Amino acid sequence: MSYNSKQGIHTACVHAGKRGNDVFGAMHDPIYLTSNYRLPSDGTPVDWSGIHTNIYARNGNPNQFALQDKLAALEGADSCVVLGSGVSALAAVFLTFLSSGDHVICSKVCYSAVAILFRDLLPKKFHIQVSMVDSTYPEEVKAALQPNTKLIHIETPGNPTTGISDIEAIAAIAKESGVLLSVDSTFASPLYLKPLALGADLVLHSMTKYINGHGDALGGCILGSTNLINTLKEEAMVNFGGIISPFNAWLVNRGLITLPLRMKQHSENGMTVATFLEQHPAVRFVAYPGLTSHPQHLLAKKQMSGYSGMICFDIHGDMATHTRFLAQLQLVAHAVSLGDSESILVYTEPGNPKLPYLPELFQQGYFRFSVGLEDAADIIDDLNRSLSSCLS
Ligand SMILES: *Cc1c(COP(=O)(O)O)cnc(C)c1O
Repeated sequence: MSYNSKQGIHTACVHAGKRGNDVFGAMHDPIYLTSNYRLPSDGTPVDWSGIHTNIYARNGNPNQFALQDKLAALEGADSCVVLGSGVSALAAVFLTFLSSGDHVICSKVCYSAVAILFRDLLPKKFHIQVSMVDSTYPEEVKAALQPNTKLIHIETPGNPTTGISDIEAIAAIAKESGVLLSVDSTFASPLYLKPLALGADLVLHSMTKYINGHGDALGGCILGSTNLINTLKEEAMVNFGGIISPFNAWLVNRGLITLPLRMKQHSENGMTVATFLEQHPAVRFVAYPGLTSHPQHLLAKKQMSGYSGMICFDIHGDMATHTRFLAQLQLVAHAVSLGDSESILVYTEPGNPKLPYLPELFQQGYFRFSVGLEDAADIIDDLNRSLSSCLS
C-alpha cells in the first residue's frame, strides 16, 4: 500500500499519494465532498489563508493532496499544485511570477489561451512586456532576453505543430540570467518528458488530456520546488481561487493509475498511424516526433523517452476535399481536446491561426490528430476509407 521513491513508475501510478486511512478500512480513498472542516475549539490559533491544514476546500482538500503527491512522485518533483484546469495552471504561473513592467519570453507556438493572454490581455491590462519567439531555436530565446525578463515559457512538443524545443539549452540560458523557465509538456505526459530533470524550474500539464486520459474531467498541475509551489498555492490557489474540485481530483487520480499502460498504447498507435499516413498519396505532410522525417526527430529521441500519440497532418485538395474527408470518418471523431481514450482530430483552416513553425506546411491548414486507444488497424481502416474518397 505504501510507495517509496526507489520503486518504479507503474507502482507509483498505483500507490503514490494514497492515504489509506479511511475509518471503515476502504481500500481506496473516498471522495471528500465537503467545502469546510471543523476548526479547533480549544484556542489553537487558525491560519485563515493557510495551505497546510484543512479549513476550507479552497485552501486544499484530501483528494487534491493525494493527486499532488502522486504527480510529484511521477515527475520527481519536490512539490505539486493541482488546479481546476490547464489554463488556470498557466494563468497561475503568469499572475504569480510576473508583475506590471516585467518582460516574458514565450514560444510563438503555444496553447490558444496562452497566446491570447500574452498577445492581448496581460500587456493591455497589466503592462507586461512580451516577446514571442520560435523556441525550437534556443538562440532566438537568448536574443530576446532583456534586463526586466522574469520568465521564459515554452511548450514542447508544441501544440499543435509538435515542434520540439531543447529544454537543456533553454534552461542554461534562463539560469545564466536568473530567469524562471516554465515548460508546458502536456503533449508528452509526465511519462515521456522530465523537464525538471533537464533544468526547468516549473513543469505544467493540462491534466484534462493524457494525465486523466478518459476525457471526463478538467484539471491542471504545476510542479517544481516547494518554495515556488507554495507561492503558487498561497497566491493563485487560495487568493485567485483556481482550485480543483474534490470530485475532479479523484477522477484524475483514478485515470492516472493506468497512465503507463495508456501511454504505451497511444505511442505504439501514434507511430503506426503516422507511418501509415506518411506513405498515403492523399496526404500532403505528416509531423510526428517519432518519424525520422520530423525536423527535430533527433532532439525528440534524446530528450523524450516516448513519442506520445499527437500527430499533425494535412491532405491535398481544397476545402470541399477536407470536408469530404471529415464527413467519411466513422470511428475517429471531429472534436477538440486530446489525450482521450478515443481517437479525435480537429481541422484548422488555412492561415488560422498564423503559425511561425514550418509555415510552408501549416499555413495551408492541418489536422491535429490525437490517436486513441483503439486497435491501430481499426483507426487505419477508418482513415484509409476517408482518404481514398479524397483521391478521386
Ligand atoms: C489543453 C491544453 C491546455 C489547456 O488546458 P485546459 O485543461 O483545457 O484548460 C494547455 N496547454 C496545452 C498544451 C493543452 O493541450
